[in-house]
Amino acid sequence: MDIRFPFSPAEVAKVRCVQFGILSPDEIRQMSVVQIEHSETTERGKPKVAGLSDPRLGTIDRKMKCETCTANMAECPGHFGHLELAKPMFHIGFMKTVLSIMRCVCFNCSKILADEEDHKFKQALKIRNPKHKLRKILDASKNKTKCEGGDEIEVQGQDGEEPVKKSRGGCGAQQPKITIEGMKMNAEYKAQKKKSDDQEQLPEPVERKQTLTAERVLSVLKRISDEDCQLLGLNPKYARPDWMILQDDLTHQLAMIIRHNDNLRRQERSGAPAHIISEFAQLLQFHIATYFDNELPGQPRVCVLPKMLLFNPMFIEWLKELVEYGPHPPPGKTGAKYIIRDDGQRLDLRYLKKSSDHHLELGYKAFS
Ligand SMILES: [Zn+2]
Ligand SMILES: [Zn+2]
Repeated sequence: MDIRFPFSPAEVAKVRCVQFGILSPDEIRQMSVVQIEHSETTERGKPKVAGLSDPRLGTIDRKMKCETCTANMAECPGHFGHLELAKPMFHIGFMKTVLSIMRCVCFNCSKILADEEDHKFKQALKIRNPKHKLRKILDASKNKTKCEGGDEIEVQGQDGEEPVKKSRGGCGAQQPKITIEGMKMNAEYKAQKKKSDDQEQLPEPVERKQTLTAERVLSVLKRISDEDCQLLGLNPKYARPDWMILQDDLTHQLAMIIRHNDNLRRQERSGAPAHIISEFAQLLQFHIATYFDNELPGQPRVCVLPKMLLFNPMFIEWLKELVEYGPHPPPGKTGAKYIIRDDGQRLDLRYLKKSSDHHLELGYKAFS
């Protein structure tokens, strides 16, 4: 029996299906328990309301109860808060997908650039795996330098109906080449080639290479029709492309990240030794890195076990295992070398043989 959590009379429900998706800005606001407005954490010794340690986000103080769920430090899971962003921002984890989508659609009217008659496009229609589907549509779109006009591809409707204007009938706009450099997205227009003197010269865009703001990208993604979303392998009900840009707001484990940030700052102010500060900094880095996707090129891949972890209900099972393995873990496993209790007492796992000595509580620290 798990004694860390009190008995709950709630009926156990069967999970019938799990749907993954991206939270829409509205869902984010609904999930948030507080809109963070102040960077200060405390005011006159108490957590500041709407600050980074608002008591509605949970509690890290043994004497205080969470203002959202009224549970104590051990039982409260922590709750999401959100920040309203002044401007849309790119999300590091969606950068590559956003780039692929931007290369598939018209920069001006957001219609898919691929030609419906192209056999690659036809093949894409049959693909069910969303990732493969997007790849195929990208393959059929990437060499398009122009958004094909609508008139040519109007097709006769069936049984003498009105001609149907296909949704991919585009606006005729020239397409820039879109690239990413770290967290920056660029659009570059190719210079118009002179073919012969009598050919009409299109005016060149004033700036051939421009940095795209997340705001500009968002406006392109927002205009993509639901039908085109499906063709790109995205179900618009669960994952609209524009939700991949952090819009007016941001939530996530930010509250957790902010709290770890706060812990680090406190350690620094209290004059903690350098190795402790470095452990706290690593912990914050771990939370930030594991929250976001860490497969972006040019960014270091973070997969090291941080040297120290504050006990957190989400980690406790894993930590118990580390402590169980101790300083001499089996090959391929990681073990902990010592535990530091919340009162500062250090327990060296080399000398603790009884399993009762391996007991962990929230607030204890384990070092590898
Ligand atoms: Zn709570
Ligand atoms: Zn267009």
